[in-house]
Amino acid sequence: MSNKPIPKTTPETEYFWSGCAAGELRLQHCRSCGHVQYPARKLCSGCFAQDVEWRRASGRGKVRSWSVVVAPGAPGFESEVPFVSVLVALDEGPTMLSVLRDCAPEAVEFGQAVTVIFEQRDESVYVPYFKPLIGE
Ligand SMILES: [Zn+2]
Repeated sequence: MSNKPIPKTTPETEYFWSGCAAGELRLQHCRSCGHVQYPARKLCSGCFAQDVEWRRASGRGKVRSWSVVVAPGAPGFESEVPFVSVLVALDEGPTMLSVLRDCAPEAVEFGQAVTVIFEQRDESVYVPYFKPLIGE
C-alpha cells in the first residue's frame, strides 16, 4: 500500500465509502425537494429537510474544470505527477472534486464525458477517480 492519506469516515459519509468499496458511487437524494447532494450531510442543503436517502449514481459526468498538479500537497502522490485534478459535473447534478486517470494533461477538454473508477487506498478503503468515457 502507499503512504497516501486515508479518507476519514464519519456517520454521514460511511455509506458513501462503503459504496466505493462495493464499486458504487452513491449520492444522497432529498425525498422532500428532490435535491441531490455531495458531499453527504445530515440535512438537505437545498431545503434543510432531514429526509435524505442514498441512491446509486450512474458514475458518469462531464469535466467542468481541471488543473494540472505538478507539486502535490499531500504525501504519496510524488510518483504520479503530473496528474489532472478535475471537477466533474455528475449527471445527477452535484460537482465532485477528483483526479482524472488515463488522460494526458494536454488531452483534457471542457465537457469531456467521464466515468468513475475506484482505486484501493488500503485494505478496506477505495477512492473514486474518473477516466474518460470512450465510445459512448
Ligand atoms: Zn431538500
